[in-house]
Amino acid sequence: MDAKVRLYVDQPLGAGQAVAVGPEQASYLFSVMRLPVGAGVLLFNGRDGEWLARVVDAGKRRGALLCEVQTKPLQLPPDMWLLFSPVRKERTNFIVEKAVELGVARLMPVTTRFTQGERWRQDKQLAHAIEAAEQCGATAVPQVGEVQPLERALAGWPADRALFWADEALAGAGPGAAGLAGLEAGRPGAILIGPEGGFSDAEQALLRGLPFVRPISLGPRILRAETAAVAALVLWQMAAGDWR
Ligand code: SAM
Repeated sequence: MDAKVRLYVDQPLGAGQAVAVGPEQASYLFSVMRLPVGAGVLLFNGRDGEWLARVVDAGKRRGALLCEVQTKPLQLPPDMWLLFSPVRKERTNFIVEKAVELGVARLMPVTTRFTQGERWRQDKQLAHAIEAAEQCGATAVPQVGEVQPLERALAGWPADRALFWADEALAGAGPGAAGLAGLEAGRPGAILIGPEGGFSDAEQALLRGLPFVRPISLGPRILRAETAAVAALVLWQMAAGDWR
């Protein structure tokens, strides 16, 4: 394959389909990456799989690509939502990037009593998720939600979606895999990771009283929030996701 660039686009892809290139992508493709007419680019849009396209017009501010052949079918991530409290900027970026690589369908930032993270910029984090998907070979980008209070996210919760709550009170109470044993693959799921300060007593009481919440331990040590997100996603992927 002669394509060295992988790009997310929001246009239909298919054999012979022309794809217009706007100013931002033209600058990246033709100025930064210096792709000439005839160069290959891999495209995906979250609907049509991955396609090899050729540059047919390489202007300074605009251009065009022409799809040739499908190189990967669409592979949607498992139906997993990640709920987490935004932490410091670079650590939140890490959570978003790793969640896309590990495979989630939706990123749901939530505020809790002890959330101290910087302001959640949905547009910036979506761009970050797209970049991660371009880099890791995914053919879809997860939904990136607006930040909302944890209570609100829980209030409208779908009853058939188990919420695996990484509960720091269970640290040392066995491996996380124990709380995830016997899961059916393909079932909707979600993971909840708390902020650096953990969950308040009231939040813990609320979570313990909800029928869809399943507390899990992530081993004997207290993990940083971003480590906990990665660890929980790996455990879930192995138990019920698309790694098993
Ligand atoms: N300040 C909290 C404490 O000392 O109990 C620690 C919070 S921890 C830095 C951030 C989040 O990661 C927690 O709210 C929890 O969701 C998750 N977490 C970290 N270590 C964990 C463990 N061993 N088991 C379960 N969850 C864990």
